[in-house]
Amino acid sequence: MISITEEAPVVSGSSDVARRMARIADEISGPAADEVDQQGRFPSETISALRAEGLLSALVPRSLGGMGASYSDLSQGLVSMGRQCASSAMVVAMHHIQVASLVRHGRNDLLRNYMVELVDRQYLLASATTEVGTGGDVGSSVCAVDVADGTFRLEKQAPVISYGRFADGILATARRSADSPENDQVLALCRPLELELEQVGEWNALGFRGTCSPGFILRASGDAAAILDDPYGDVSTQTMLPVAHILWSSLWLGIASAAIDRARRFVQAEARKRPGMTPAAALRLADATALYQQFADLLRCSVARFEDIQDDPDRLSALGFAIAMNSLKVSSSTLVVDVVRQSMVICGLASYRMDTPYSLGRHLRDSIGASLMVNNDRIMGNNAQMLLVHRGE
Ligand SMILES: Cc1cc2nc3c(=O)[nH]c(=O)nc-3n(C[C@H](O)[C@H](O)[C@H](O)COP(=O)(O)OP(=O)(O)OC[C@H]3O[C@@H](n4cnc5c(N)ncnc54)[C@H](O)[C@@H]3O)c2cc1C
Repeated sequence: MISITEEAPVVSGSSDVARRMARIADEISGPAADEVDQQGRFPSETISALRAEGLLSALVPRSLGGMGASYSDLSQGLVSMGRQCASSAMVVAMHHIQVASLVRHGRNDLLRNYMVELVDRQYLLASATTEVGTGGDVGSSVCAVDVADGTFRLEKQAPVISYGRFADGILATARRSADSPENDQVLALCRPLELELEQVGEWNALGFRGTCSPGFILRASGDAAAILDDPYGDVSTQTMLPVAHILWSSLWLGIASAAIDRARRFVQAEARKRPGMTPAAALRLADATALYQQFADLLRCSVARFEDIQDDPDRLSALGFAIAMNSLKVSSSTLVVDVVRQSMVICGLASYRMDTPYSLGRHLRDSIGASLMVNNDRIMGNNAQMLLVHRGE
């Protein structure tokens, strides 16, 4: 017999933030997950619950009123949430990626005060990095901020802004000025009173349906100090990219964890039907469990790697670190599909049907989005270029 554990292993240890997120995931996100998916509706109950507990500002330092949570805390919380409702977890992950960028690259008074306000009012932040004309190449912009008399103006054709309609603020990339090259970008905080979103099309997607991610024409203006202090290239390399890849991978691990749990329960139920016989699918379960373990350990190591150097801009900007974080994204977005697919083969028809305790249709659909959220081929293309000049660790 293979060794059967009660719970699929996830990132080890558990903090208060992770425990509270896990409770919200189990009690609130999970029961609403199928409805959120079927109706393609915003997971408002999860966001309200996180808001009520002040968890939307978990990453904001204590000096600004937040919880000062670590990335490993948040990663664990997102594994739990991804296990229950990947759409909810994706919204929460995307929000925290924006908060991390603000916390680490917004040093002026306006942005510091905004973070205090974010803690107080539990704002939800969204992101507009993708643009019509550049596709998934988020390191280039067509649009530009127009700064005059201490005020910025911006118009951006954004093909996807997840939960744009429900956000309290949007961080948008743009060229620094109309004369700047496409890769000389800034990140601007766009706030509601000076932000207009004209929706273009609908979001009727295969997976992550609850992220509610249609296109928009974004028109914003505001105090020029709402443009983050560091160039977007630094924000991206040192924070947005590693944090996104860690937090996305966390919720994808959650999807894989839900799938492997179902597969394990299925095999155990088969084993109970014929005592003394090892079910045929047990070997495949052992195989899938090994894949899952690889995934969990990869994430754990990657979070530790980032946390070790998180305050060292030089090491964060090193090619080796960028290659590692890109590799994390590509590997975990591949592993999630592999684990879900293997789990479906184990559970058979029971996973293919939409109405059994072993259903995995939603998990499969959500898992496929992982490799497209900044296309894996594009990420591998970036790694290929860096490897031409990288000298090794
Ligand atoms: C669920 C979900 C939510 C999202 N939410 C947001 C959001 O809130 N805000 C936001 O800004 N964006 C969001 N996105 C967009 C996402 O981050 C990507 O930018 C977007 O999915 C890329 O779109 P694309 O596949 O059409 O474009 P591309 O990345 O351009 O890919 C199209 C095709 O071109 C190929 N390709 C193009 N260039 C290259 C290259 N240089 N190397 C290799 N292959 C290349 C790709 O392999 C692919 O086949 C979201 C995406 C998803 C799936």
